[in-house]
Amino acid sequence: MGEAAERIVLEARDLRKSFGGVRAVDGCSFVVPAGRISGLIGPNGSGKTTTFNLLTGLTAPDGGQVIYKGANLAGLKPHEIFRKGITRTFQITRVFREMTVLENMLSVTGLAVPDRVARERAAELIELVNLGHLRAEYGGRLSYGQQKLLEFARALMTDPDLILLDEPAAGVNRTLLQHLLDHIHRLREQGKTIVIVEHDMNVIMNLCDRIFVMDYGVKIAEGPPADIQRNDRVLEAYFGRRRRPDGSAPEPGGHGPGSVGAG
Ligand code: ADP
Ligand code: MG
Repeated sequence: MGEAAERIVLEARDLRKSFGGVRAVDGCSFVVPAGRISGLIGPNGSGKTTTFNLLTGLTAPDGGQVIYKGANLAGLKPHEIFRKGITRTFQITRVFREMTVLENMLSVTGLAVPDRVARERAAELIELVNLGHLRAEYGGRLSYGQQKLLEFARALMTDPDLILLDEPAAGVNRTLLQHLLDHIHRLREQGKTIVIVEHDMNVIMNLCDRIFVMDYGVKIAEGPPADIQRNDRVLEAYFGRRRRPDGSAPEPGGHGPGSVGAG
């Protein structure tokens, strides 16, 4: 199937957002193909989280459009966008510390299913992310990685069509990470569309069908992982500021990037 035949689920057109003098997102356009995993990468502060905030209504854009299912979502409130089938996780988790794992799962608003079904779904999802043994534990007592997994599971409660993940792997240990990656793959098999911001290059390169790269609020490259790994502009933006002592850029697929792009 050629790319031209791909269905587009969401299109960002010329999105803009400034904070004081900082142009966090400075005229960013991209399309998200349906049923694929798209990666959004870029150095720390390049505008990735702000882009997610613009797509999900947490931040109102200064300009531009977010076209989803034929309508412009720009400027809608988060709950309005959420109801249209877009959900997300946060770079800094928003797990309720005083609620149990199960209660956190059920705290999602706008569940259009009976309580019994919601509880069943919650239990299933908790098992999927391997938190079953902690279902009665308070959110505040989970490790950081477990909170990330809980937030991921909670994002799936409404069975969304489009899932935006902001650094879901950060702080998650290797075993749990593998479960998380398996589950993201499974979501794609179910026909879900996923956009993931992640600084772990191994995760990004192995997971994504397509990658967008941001720097200083603009998209500087996009393409399949293999192309992005070789793209000079990306290497310059992404690694240029952190060259090794010998001047060489670390390999995106290796351990080099480390925490570049985190935060
Ligand atoms: P990333 O997620 O790629 O690391 P962000 O979108 O968080 O980048 O930030 C992009 C730029 O916008 C940074 O310079 C950041 O400091 C700035 N920024 C983000 N959110 C705010 C805010 N609420 N107020 C002021 N500046 C912000
Ligand atoms: Mg961020």
